[in-house]
Amino acid sequence: MPKISGYEIHDVRFPTSLSGDGTDAMNTECDYSSAYVALLTDSDLIGYGMTFTIGRGNDIVCEAIKQVSDRLIGKNTQVLFADMGKTWEYMMSDPQLRWIGPEKGVIHIASGAVNNALWDMYARSENKPLWKLIVDFTPEELVQSAAFRYITDAITKEEALAMLKEKEVGKKEREAKVRELGYPAYVTSAGWLGYDDEKVARLTKEAIAAGFNHFKMKVGADQANDLRRGKLIRSIIDDPQYLPKGSAPRNLNSEALRGKNAGPTGAVLMIDANQVWDVKQAIKYVEGLSEIKPWFIEEPTAPDDILGHAAIRKALKPSNIGVATGEHAHNRMVFKQLLQAEAIDVVQIDSCRLAGVSEVLSVLLMAAKFGVPVCPHAGGVGLCEYVIHLSLIDYIAISGSMERNVLEFVDHLHEHFVTPCSINSAGRYNVPTNPKEGYSIEMHKTSIAEYEWPNGSYWVGARKNKALSLIKSIMMSEGPVAPIVIILIFILSVAMSFWMLLL
Ligand SMILES: [Mg+2]
Repeated sequence: MPKISGYEIHDVRFPTSLSGDGTDAMNTECDYSSAYVALLTDSDLIGYGMTFTIGRGNDIVCEAIKQVSDRLIGKNTQVLFADMGKTWEYMMSDPQLRWIGPEKGVIHIASGAVNNALWDMYARSENKPLWKLIVDFTPEELVQSAAFRYITDAITKEEALAMLKEKEVGKKEREAKVRELGYPAYVTSAGWLGYDDEKVARLTKEAIAAGFNHFKMKVGADQANDLRRGKLIRSIIDDPQYLPKGSAPRNLNSEALRGKNAGPTGAVLMIDANQVWDVKQAIKYVEGLSEIKPWFIEEPTAPDDILGHAAIRKALKPSNIGVATGEHAHNRMVFKQLLQAEAIDVVQIDSCRLAGVSEVLSVLLMAAKFGVPVCPHAGGVGLCEYVIHLSLIDYIAISGSMERNVLEFVDHLHEHFVTPCSINSAGRYNVPTNPKEGYSIEMHKTSIAEYEWPNGSYWVGARKNKALSLIKSIMMSEGPVAPIVIILIFILSVAMSFWMLLL
């Protein structure tokens, strides 16, 4: 079997701040970025992985990826793949790198990129998409692949094994069902804070026409404005005239909609504050939005504040508004405590804030044991490509249910991937089926060449344009500035000519 022989790392940044994409109450100028790695072997087998950031700092993650990858050089892939749980523990336990975590921050998300690249390589070596590799595991193999250190007070390997064995029944049928129907999704891109009302209304109508019935809106900058925007979205999603031709309102008493504050057409609204509030502030602010009937408030406060989330959930219970979090929950222990403290109604794993597939598996197992649905965080760049695999693993092999789950979808930047994710006409993710696509995260080489920071062709062009527009604005300006600049340029040119002659 091949040995790992090297790596390529790329700092890839997309200029999304120019369009207001991804704007929320906390993150106002995001350039969606990928700290991207290709793990190379002494054969033609390659594993691709990445983690997501929103711009500055992506270079720091790339450096950490290099340090994490260095420890895999020379390793036999057969040995690594034979026990992915043990491989994960090896990756987490560098005797020196561990100090700058442990299991959190830059080093952890860098480890996520590398662990994901290893899983991608494993799936490619078996000629299966990643989800299929894992759902075809025996229960023993799946348990062996997960990260159990520090969570055995919430779930033991024996308990996990018993759960998975129980779910063996019906696995084939579930796989066939989701291949046929797709996996339920929701849309976020209609409700970003940087968009004006006209754009929000247009995107919401487009999302309904595309088959979606769960919608998320960003909140937290201004309560009155949020209420107004929420009413605008509600006025559209609750109006049967916008439903796709021939489709009737959904059944409000169905399991899929139970307790979600669905409107008359069966539409569900969620709100997301991206961590802006203190605990009491969160409660007051969200109570003030109860008129727009959200299913849950996402990230109401600091992501590490487990008891804060529990307090918010308890206080919002009478208003029938739930709490969701997880995109910034930096390891499985945070999820363990959120579940133990009954702090959340929805688990929102992130595919690369957790340190890769092995740690995600442990959170999926805990969520199934506690009976809390997993609705992964996605969007950004590459996250949608990743998470469909994780939700398929959850549905087919672990929780056995997708009825109440919805997987985030944002229709941005998919064109940069060799095997992009896709949505069917019912607003559900299609199942990735290409046996060569691994974890679906391989990026086009042309995209890397264009958007690599700081010397990709896009960024070089952007700097040139900025310099030219600066010169243009000086030349167009009234008053003495333009003539002074022209005289200075003239003097500088003459001085340089003389200097060249002297040389
Ligand atoms: Mg969010």
